[in-house]
Formats: sequence, structure tokens, C-alpha cells
Amino acid sequence: MSGVSANLKSIQTKLDAAYEEATDENRAHNKPRLVAVSKTKPVDLIIEAYNEGQRVFGENYVQELSEKSANQEILEKCPDIKWHFIGNCQSNKAKILMNCENLCLIETVTSENLAKQLNKQAGSKEVSVFIQINTSGEESKNGLDEETSLKVAKFIVEKCPQLKLTGLMTIGQLGNSIQAAKEGGNPDFLKLREVRKKVANSLNRDEHDFELSMGMSTDFEEAIRMGSTNVRVGSSIFGARNYPANPPKPDGDGSSDQLSQKLQQTKI
Ligand SMILES: *Cc1c(COP(=O)(O)O)cnc(C)c1O
Repeated sequence: MSGVSANLKSIQTKLDAAYEEATDENRAHNKPRLVAVSKTKPVDLIIEAYNEGQRVFGENYVQELSEKSANQEILEKCPDIKWHFIGNCQSNKAKILMNCENLCLIETVTSENLAKQLNKQAGSKEVSVFIQINTSGEESKNGLDEETSLKVAKFIVEKCPQLKLTGLMTIGQLGNSIQAAKEGGNPDFLKLREVRKKVANSLNRDEHDFELSMGMSTDFEEAIRMGSTNVRVGSSIFGARNYPANPPKPDGDGSSDQLSQKLQQTKI
């Protein structure tokens, strides 16, 4: 027994409860989507989660997503699987990313150039995208500041017909998450909501037209109470991740992993 099935049930129960607990003002219009983050985890565990009813899975390395999404067993046993890409994509990998089978959403657009390349490589299909925001201002984190995000949002809407801008995403700061676990009101989550308002205003749209991707294993309940529509949960479903001593040069900066590892050590 891998524990994946019990873990999924437990996460879903907590997700439902947090959604109920959110104030009317904060609560998302629809129940948040659970993205099962399967990075570094084997195909069998993905199939096991799929058989429990999980449909949306997240990966943060282009190469790993490319391999898993083309895996014959996954294609056969998980016909309705939906992949979210949640890592850093260099523009020269846009083609590999866009060619992934059952790619549903790219959560991490961080530049006009990346948007342009993704749009170009999309062919005739339409792919949903989120813009990644660096809500904490940490240099080690990917993502755009508020001002640049407005520019990139406009660029996507006006110049990228194959991309559908449907939300914003953040990876919060460790300290904020620890603090908020005690006191609530995580400033990264507040900031993402604020940026959403501004993006929506600048595009003459309703803020609820845009999703908020925020919350991971350690803080997804707090994120949902603050209006998250999309939580990305990995280790609480699949167990802690093991990394090789010298990992191959990643596409991402790994900062989200440092975050979750530190959070686990801190035992909040
Ligand atoms: C790995 C990862 C997660 C999941 O982290 P856990 O702490 O294992 O839940 C969420 N979001 C991103 C961007 C990640 O890279």
C-alpha cells in the first residue's frame, strides 16, 4: 500500500472543509481544483491516484512532463488525465512543452517572450495559461512583479490568440507561510488577490474571471480560505520526494522544493 488513496481522501476532506470555512467575501465561486503534483514520482503512483478519481496532475520539469505524458501505460490507463505545467520553461523548450499529450494548463508564464514562443508552438490548439507572480519579491523566485504582469497580461490577450489567460499563480515565501499558519492572512496570498484585481481592471474584466493558483501541501487550507481556486499539492499525496545527490540541471530553480522541504522541517 502506497498510502496515496488515503492521502487523497484526507486532502479532499480538508479542501472541502477549508472551502466551507472561507468567508463569503473570500470564497472562490467554485470549489478549488486539486492539482496532484507528481514530480519525481513514478508512473504507478500517478495511475493509482487516477484510479481514485484524481484527474489533474502537475509537473515542473519540461522533460519529465514530456516523458510522463507520453508514457504508454498512462495513455492507456488514464485517458482523461489533465496535465498542468508548474515549473520554469525556457523559451527554447516551448515546443517540447506544447507537444505534450493532454497538456491542459501552463501555470507559469513569466515573460512576453515565453508567451510568444508558446503561442507560436501551439499550432491550432488553444491552451490555458496563468501568469506567475513573484508576490514576495525574493530574488530566488521566478515570477513577475505587479507592473510587468499587467504588460504581459495585455500582451497575451492581444497578441497570443492560441493562449487563453485564465489566472495567476504564486509560490509564497516560507516565512510568510509559517507566520500565516499561526495568524492567518498570508501576505503572498493577499498580494496575489490584489494583483488579480489590477489585472482584471486593466483588461476590463471581472476579477472572478481569473483563477488564483496558490497553496501547497503545508498551506493549501489557508490559501483556500483566502480564495484560492487551484491548489498544488505534492508531498502530502505522494510522500516526501527523494532527490539524487547531484540533480541534473533543472528547468526550474527548485525554490518551491526548498520551500516545502524547509516547511516540513519546521513542522508547522
Ligand atoms: C513541488 C511543487 C508544489 C508541491 O509542493 P508540496 O510541498 O510537495 O505540496 C507546488 N507548486 C510548485 C510550483 C511546485 O514546484
